[in-house]
Amino acid sequence: MMTSMMALIDELWYLKRDLVSDGYDTALNRLAQEVPMTIHEYPTGTPCWTWKVPEKWTCDEAYLETLAGERIIDVKNHPLHVVSYSLPFEGVVKREELLPHLHTHQRLPDAIPFVYKYYDRDWGLCLPQTLKNTINDEAYKVVIRTRFENGSLKVGEVVVPGESDRCFILAAHLCHPAMVNDDLSGCVVGLDVARALLQGPKPFYTYRLLILPETIGSVAYLSHHEELIPKMNGGLFLEMLGADIPHILQHSFMVESQVDKCFAAVLADSDPPIVRKPYREVIGNDERQFNAPGVRVPMLSLSRCIHPSTAPNYPFYEYHSSLDTPALVSQERLEASRDLVLKMLDAWEKNRYVVNEFKGEIFCSGQNIWIDPTVNRAGHDSLFKIMERCDGTRTTADIAVELQIPFQAVWEIISLLLDRQLVRLSPKPVPPALTRY
Ligand SMILES: [Zn+2]
Repeated sequence: MMTSMMALIDELWYLKRDLVSDGYDTALNRLAQEVPMTIHEYPTGTPCWTWKVPEKWTCDEAYLETLAGERIIDVKNHPLHVVSYSLPFEGVVKREELLPHLHTHQRLPDAIPFVYKYYDRDWGLCLPQTLKNTINDEAYKVVIRTRFENGSLKVGEVVVPGESDRCFILAAHLCHPAMVNDDLSGCVVGLDVARALLQGPKPFYTYRLLILPETIGSVAYLSHHEELIPKMNGGLFLEMLGADIPHILQHSFMVESQVDKCFAAVLADSDPPIVRKPYREVIGNDERQFNAPGVRVPMLSLSRCIHPSTAPNYPFYEYHSSLDTPALVSQERLEASRDLVLKMLDAWEKNRYVVNEFKGEIFCSGQNIWIDPTVNRAGHDSLFKIMERCDGTRTTADIAVELQIPFQAVWEIISLLLDRQLVRLSPKPVPPALTRY
């Protein structure tokens, strides 16, 4: 029995899903019940290129009290009340010493912020600014009981086998405790995309969905699967797909890549239009590790995000706070995002080099594909412009981008030509046999 995306969110969102933690493992194991998943483990201290896997972190207790014993903050009331990877600390501290360790949200005075100090170690608690404003005593009692132990960072991998071992990566992170839009929404959409692909006909590409802790999870996986990197043709990072905000696509570092062109062309006829922005101009996530030097896999990112130019609510109002709850997301929007990803991948599957099996201009009337220019001028022109470009050196996406026609419209013409065996598709370019000097 498949659990709906929204039901999985309701079940898993409140877990303390810190980088390497029991809560993260519980969430990943639960997702693994929904779909065949391999869980890769990387023990604490494992070198991963220039990084190494951090310790497992557990918070047993964390609170702030007045010296009279009145509890002001208690992690029992919300997992975000303690800084993720906070050092343990116990003692009575003066107000001036305490204040720098009390973190608030820059924009949301009533929310608890999500603060993490994975590598820049310090102790800290988080609280609403309105509550911090009441911290006026001379001294307070702080108790933070946290443990750093050897553990294992875990990366979940769902493989949808294709005819080719060349692969496409879908990625989402799971390491944001007690939050939903960022990041659990991306995980459940990825999971539903994988379920749909597994139920459909065998694809051409092999698809790999990776669910991981942000940044270190990608570095751990990539550094332990170097042999796969040359086979990765492209990727898509998924996050923030539940809020009531339009989709936005962030390009990869390699904007001329086939996957960049394909996704740009497939979204060209979206209604409402989907904004596209360059690499690093929407939001940074695991796609950074895939696009980075030595890896250079063109990975784009799909989210529902307010563009930075329309701040102050960037990337969405409740971002990295206790207000990012299931109330923000809906099954309907998650499904719309899933369907959009499936539409993009459907185009990606079709996007191969279009090789002409004809010479000269096609006798369109004879092939019954003639479009009368007096009836449909644009259709007539497009038909000829598309046919002209079917020469083995261009993909459907290349043609669509070159002509500024949506992918689907180009594909309709290519399909007609395929039906009549006037063209064939090739995963690699087939340059014309004749070269002139
Ligand atoms: Zn985040």
